[in-house]
Amino acid sequence: MNTKELLQYDKDHIWHPYTSTTNPLPVYPVDKAEGCTIHLKTGEKLVDGMSSWWAAVHGYNHPVLNKAMEDQLKQMSHIMFGGLTHEPAVELAQRLVDITPYGLDKVFFCDSGSVAVEVSLKMALQYWWSKGNKEKVKFATIRNGYHGDTWHAMSVCDPETGMHHIFNGRLPIHYFADQPQCRYNEPCSDDHIAGLKQLFEENHKEMAAFILEPIVQGAGGMWFYSAEYLKEVKQLCEQYGVLLIADEIATGFGRTGKLFACNHASITPDIMCLGKAITGGYMSFAATLATDEVASTISNGSPGVFMHGPTFMGNPLACAVANVSIKLLLDGKWQQKVIHIEKQLIKGLEPCKQLNIVSDVRCMGAIGVVELKKPVDMAIIQKAFVDKGVWVRPFGKLVYLMPPFIISEQELGKLCSALLEVISETMEGKE
Ligand code: PMP
Repeated sequence: MNTKELLQYDKDHIWHPYTSTTNPLPVYPVDKAEGCTIHLKTGEKLVDGMSSWWAAVHGYNHPVLNKAMEDQLKQMSHIMFGGLTHEPAVELAQRLVDITPYGLDKVFFCDSGSVAVEVSLKMALQYWWSKGNKEKVKFATIRNGYHGDTWHAMSVCDPETGMHHIFNGRLPIHYFADQPQCRYNEPCSDDHIAGLKQLFEENHKEMAAFILEPIVQGAGGMWFYSAEYLKEVKQLCEQYGVLLIADEIATGFGRTGKLFACNHASITPDIMCLGKAITGGYMSFAATLATDEVASTISNGSPGVFMHGPTFMGNPLACAVANVSIKLLLDGKWQQKVIHIEKQLIKGLEPCKQLNIVSDVRCMGAIGVVELKKPVDMAIIQKAFVDKGVWVRPFGKLVYLMPPFIISEQELGKLCSALLEVISETMEGKE
């Protein structure tokens, strides 16, 4: 197939994320990706500003990650996890237990982020079931959250602004607190947490767990909120006997400047979901970690086992690459790199604040967000970015950068100036 035929077949037969099959947004054919560069089949080279949706923290085609997968391939690419175990899985479990907040000692391997969230919700329900509490069957969360695309994960996404509003009325109904208004690095006033407190006071008897994305809300609005708010949620969960689930699928592995976003508030949740960057973006893989208390309560109850067991659980290829990716992260100076990226993002995106079309600019760790007053036209803005030699994929009013941690100053400079130029040129008059 030549490139034209390839694109035509794609258009006629393939469903891409968040687009139509009858009138799809254009897609760009990728030949290969290396370091921070995406090479298109049409010859363009694009600096990657997205890390393939938070995942590719070490960039692409990394020799060390490639070797880990090649070595593992020669041993076995997959083996069932029921009744069998293997070194890559055990090694990975040990790493995750060691680096996640103290007390998360039990690891459940999953196949994707959404599944990790489903598993966490099931764990919470089975925990209360095992304790003989039949009332706690609901979840609570904050508005503008995003937890994935599967059924119950959708039910805890924002019911209106989330991408799943069309399923309202069909999904289970849960409790929603307002989006935290206290910004990151700012204190939380009583007013900021009044609604949250009320939600716990009124509904705690039915609440199995409170689920949130700690500190950084991703796909629901790219919003950064105060660590004091997160501490307050943890305290209320303890006070009212509600489990806390931290969805660190996007924030985990350094993206926010701490290894895990929970570390900003020095809290340990009862359950934590990890995904995306866990394999350095090489494979679909995730993990749900729980405290001993959660795991042993489920195990001591009836039926005494956790009712979940996907076919590709603990996939050795994914575990092998995750082990090396985490090692690479910890052995390298990841924190300095992320701090450096943050500084450059703050400086590079500062001029966007002067534009009338921009309502807010915020940066945290290796995430830089420019919030516009009006939503972008995806087809137009995407082409404009490609024409400037960068890969940036906005959504709604949000244009943002979250590059691989290995990005050079020059590459990040190119991303920041392309962002400024593209929004100025394509959003003119949209104030
Ligand atoms: N939780 C969060 C916070 C996410 O950002 C995502 C993915 N965007 C998910 C869950 C779902 O992960 P996956 O797409 O791997 O199913």
